[in-house]
Amino acid sequence: MSILELDNVTLKFGGLTAVNKLSFSVEQGEVFAIVGPNGAGKSTVFNLISRFYDPYEGSIRFDGHDLLKQKASGVASFGVARTFQNIELFDHASVLQNLLVGRHRHRQSNFLSELFFTPSVKRQEMQNRQLVEEIIDFLDLQAYRDKMIAGLPYGVRKVVEVGRALATDPKLLLLDEPASGLSVEETSDMRWWIDDIRRQMGITVLMVEHDMGLVSGVSDRVLALADGAKLALGTPSEVQSHPAVIEAYLGK
Ligand code: ADP
Ligand code: MG
Repeated sequence: MSILELDNVTLKFGGLTAVNKLSFSVEQGEVFAIVGPNGAGKSTVFNLISRFYDPYEGSIRFDGHDLLKQKASGVASFGVARTFQNIELFDHASVLQNLLVGRHRHRQSNFLSELFFTPSVKRQEMQNRQLVEEIIDFLDLQAYRDKMIAGLPYGVRKVVEVGRALATDPKLLLLDEPASGLSVEETSDMRWWIDDIRRQMGITVLMVEHDMGLVSGVSDRVLALADGAKLALGTPSEVQSHPAVIEAYLGK
């Protein structure tokens, strides 16, 4: 069963067609990777799903909903979370605080109940705290729990960003270049996190990634994009051996 469906989606920036009549669907529970040269439109696809941009044509459905009828905040509340190509965390807050921010959308309270800190708010806060602590354990971040983001190594910040997205309790996790800037060892760790997120948490993962080792290691299916259009779609080995893909990578 597919959880996400893009049908004939086009997005133009002035005269540039960044995404061109693109259709694909992501199955519930799979890891699906989008690959392609720089400028192929990969991040733009994420921005379309997150509703940062309106497509020029086409439809995007998620979990039975027409996403194009939603604002960005609506997409998040349906259970879509993302990380960014350039990490976006609160640098002057701790790991724990950044993850608690991810819980925000689950806060079921109003201004008055927060002011008087009612039992239900207290309960909600405790649940948030517990879930966030579980994510910290899951991602092996205990040693960094109370450390400020600004002082952390880049590789750890990448993992914290995944944690912040997980804290929203998503059905679909969008990872934009999770291995960029990571060492070989950190990339291998990231591969296991992604695998565990899918297997243990049951979350569907859609990622954009350049590292073909990571892509082949963890993805069920791969979509290769060039100039905003689909070049090939299939298993990692099918896509890597596809003549159009080889040409797009070697020909440029
Ligand atoms: P990728 O992530 O595959 O490297 P992007 O999706 O970031 O590529 O960009 C696809 C194309 O759209 C590129 O040519 C890029 O320059 C252009 N582009 C992306 N975002 C914008 C924007 N906000 N305004 C204008 N052009 C953009
Ligand atoms: Mg990009």
